[in-house]
Amino acid sequence: MKKVMKFGGSSVKDAIRIKRVAKRILKEKKKGEEIVVVLSAMGDTTDDLIALAKEISDSPSKREMDMLLTTGEQVSSSLLAMALSDLGVNAISLNAFQARIKTNSVYGNAKIKNIDSERIQNELDAGRVAVVTGFQGINKNEDMLTLGRGGSDTTAVAIAAAIGADICEIYTDVDGIYTGDPRIIENARRLDYISYDGMLEMATLGAKVLHNRSVEMAKRYNVTLVVKSSLEEGDGTRVLEGKAVEGLLIDGVTVDDDVARLAVIGLLNEPGMAFKIFNELSKADINVDMILQSVGRDGKKDITFTVSIDDAKEAYNIINGLKERFGFEDVSLDEKVSKVSLIGAGIQSNFNVATKMFEALYNVGVNIQMISTSEIRITVLVDEEESARGAKAVHDVFLND
Ligand code: ADP
Ligand code: ASP
Ligand code: MG
Repeated sequence: MKKVMKFGGSSVKDAIRIKRVAKRILKEKKKGEEIVVVLSAMGDTTDDLIALAKEISDSPSKREMDMLLTTGEQVSSSLLAMALSDLGVNAISLNAFQARIKTNSVYGNAKIKNIDSERIQNELDAGRVAVVTGFQGINKNEDMLTLGRGGSDTTAVAIAAAIGADICEIYTDVDGIYTGDPRIIENARRLDYISYDGMLEMATLGAKVLHNRSVEMAKRYNVTLVVKSSLEEGDGTRVLEGKAVEGLLIDGVTVDDDVARLAVIGLLNEPGMAFKIFNELSKADINVDMILQSVGRDGKKDITFTVSIDDAKEAYNIINGLKERFGFEDVSLDEKVSKVSLIGAGIQSNFNVATKMFEALYNVGVNIQMISTSEIRITVLVDEEESARGAKAVHDVFLND
């Protein structure tokens, strides 16, 4: 059997953990498996490197940021290869260049275009464990790029697809995928199974247990994906094609704090205003998420919308600079907001779900600022300080049996 085993930062945070991971791999190797390991950087390395760069420069170039951040995965991967060698396991570490992971040129958030798996396959054929750096790729100019925070999961799935692995196992600090973040919702339940679509929605809406692009890719290439604990034995959670998951109407609750809300007040109530505002943001590559437009009154209207926290200040500056030209009264920015979402295929057939969710929030006194819905989710925007309380209340109503 051919497998990809990915270990996250907390699983390789120090020498002891790295040696423990090596022992786990030895156990699998003894079963005769062909193994590719994908690693994240040790512990908080990526955060620490970002903080270090900020000490040097207020606006470092994206290329140099990626050059810096890709070092983290190279450290952990070489150390693990050494630990494996000491256990008598034939192993070799490979960075993105050596593993031939090709991406586009979007620094900081690159997408994998293809992996030429020949090198990895040659190592497996020679009986070695290939330890590949997660989170990184190279573009056509041979620059190093990163895949976005949490991107090692995507490296693992992409390699699994490229080499035709039987399974891609994601080892982390929780023993599977839960109905809510166990750090926020203590009574969240571990799921045995979740559909690709449900997990994709959860990951996109704040469940950082899997990088959302890894789920998208697993679905597209039909990769069997399992999330497990790196510390304990257990079956973990399998991510599968939806049809195999029966009776699961609600998957879970997520919280996403990485959002900000902007409100443009006193716009003229005439055609084209929404277009003009959002066109300026899209020119700057800023994505807008939830949108609310007030009913016009006295010839004026307001438009409120959310953006990613990383784009918040830039979006504010752009809109503020349009005041004279578009003649609105004011713009405000609130970075202390969160999205709380309820996710599941059962939502589309039942409007009652929305009412019950709003009631749950009302019962614990959480004010809803904005609402958006799709066939398989309901999202509300709330004050960041109230998000955990709101998420717990919603979880209690739908997922506590
Ligand atoms: P790694 O470093 O292994 O990649 P991450 O921190 O990226 O680990 O992801 C694991 C974390 O995801 C858990 O510690 C947990 O707090 C968080 N998490 C958020 N939502 C969920 C969920 N629904 N199920 C499990 N874990 C979740
Ligand atoms: N080390 C990277 C990060 O912290 C990638 C990963 O862990 O998946 O985001
Ligand atoms: Mg992660």
